[in-house]
Amino acid sequence: MSKKTIVIGAGMSGLSFANWWGPGEDTIVLEAADEPGGYCRTVVRDGFVWDYSGHFFHFKHADIEAWLRARMPGQEVRTIEKLSFIRYAGRDIDFPFQKHIHQLPHDEFLACLVDLYFRPSGEATSFLQMLYTRLGKSITEKFLRPYNEKLYATDLDALDVDAMGRFFPHADVADIIANMRPGARSSSYNATFTYPAGGAVQYVNALLHDLPPGMVSCGERVVGIDRAARVVTTTKRTLPYDQIVSSAPLPALARMAGVAHAPVFTSNQVLVSTSASIARDRAACTGCTSRIARCASTGSASTTTSSRASACRSTSRSACAPARPSMSRRCARACWRICGASRS
Ligand SMILES: Cc1cc2nc3c(=O)[nH]c(=O)nc-3n(C[C@H](O)[C@H](O)[C@H](O)COP(=O)(O)OP(=O)(O)OC[C@H]3O[C@@H](n4cnc5c(N)ncnc54)[C@H](O)[C@@H]3O)c2cc1C
Repeated sequence: MSKKTIVIGAGMSGLSFANWWGPGEDTIVLEAADEPGGYCRTVVRDGFVWDYSGHFFHFKHADIEAWLRARMPGQEVRTIEKLSFIRYAGRDIDFPFQKHIHQLPHDEFLACLVDLYFRPSGEATSFLQMLYTRLGKSITEKFLRPYNEKLYATDLDALDVDAMGRFFPHADVADIIANMRPGARSSSYNATFTYPAGGAVQYVNALLHDLPPGMVSCGERVVGIDRAARVVTTTKRTLPYDQIVSSAPLPALARMAGVAHAPVFTSNQVLVSTSASIARDRAACTGCTSRIARCASTGSASTTTSSRASACRSTSRSACAPARPSMSRRCARACWRICGASRS
């Protein structure tokens, strides 16, 4: 007899597991939200397609992409050449910043170059230290530090040297100098990517394609796991299990299972804001309501935090700082994620 398997979460991980494990198995996927997808969801409004997060896909294994595409009948999948720029000092700098410092205003370019040459030596033990020792003070402080602090919503000193793996466009001095030749333009690891015309959710739909109806139960949050009785309690019922596969954040899983966990177990702190969550944060906010309101007004619903944060960086980032001492923890976090202001 097959084992009763409960999968917590119907995001990309939970649904991928359900497919790999086998649609014929005695498996149920429990999803707290009203629809599957987790961070990989899409909103279509006024003819525009907005993704919550995963807005492009770069597959390491071609066979996985082919498998998904075979389950997206009629869906147009475009190959897009990535064109990304960083708006800095009133001009557009090619991405990645560190390889295009020669496009900066002259004095800032010289500062980056001098600091690159005189960068501190020594072995870095954190992501932040790696930035200073590889790229110098100016490149780090003008862009890489504030950008990554906003993106990861955490102190970069708390991240490992290789925290971003292949997603961080490394550059050594030779790369940077060679890129200054006229006509040279550096590309990053995902110079092209594929994107379904219907948005990232099409990949979620592909993962649902082979699963039997009823295998994914949305609007059903797991609230407790009794490991002794091997029973899961949800907001709707109790279910026996033989094994659980969880894609919920690790601290949440530990709480559900009544397992004490030290704060060392943390989860990715990147947050995605919707108009609803902004409104919630605003209501909870005691110290900087007007600033959050102003930040929120620059981004439309369903845009990601990082894009909203860059939209309001110049107007609100410094304005948030004075209000910080009077902020609640939640308010400070909202302010951090919206404006990129430092948490105190
Ligand atoms: C801003 C941003 C940009 C990104 N850009 C890209 C990109 O361009 N390309 C790319 O490939 N990836 C991108 N990613 C990463 C990608 O979106 C995620 O890695 C991926 O969606 C994570 O999937 P997951 O299933 O592991 O987790 P999640 O999507 O978080 O899914 C977990 C699911 O578990 C559910 N859950 C949690 N607790 C419970 C519970 N107690 N009971 C029931 N259900 C529960 C949640 O509701 C959720 O649906 C981006 C992420 C962010 C935040």
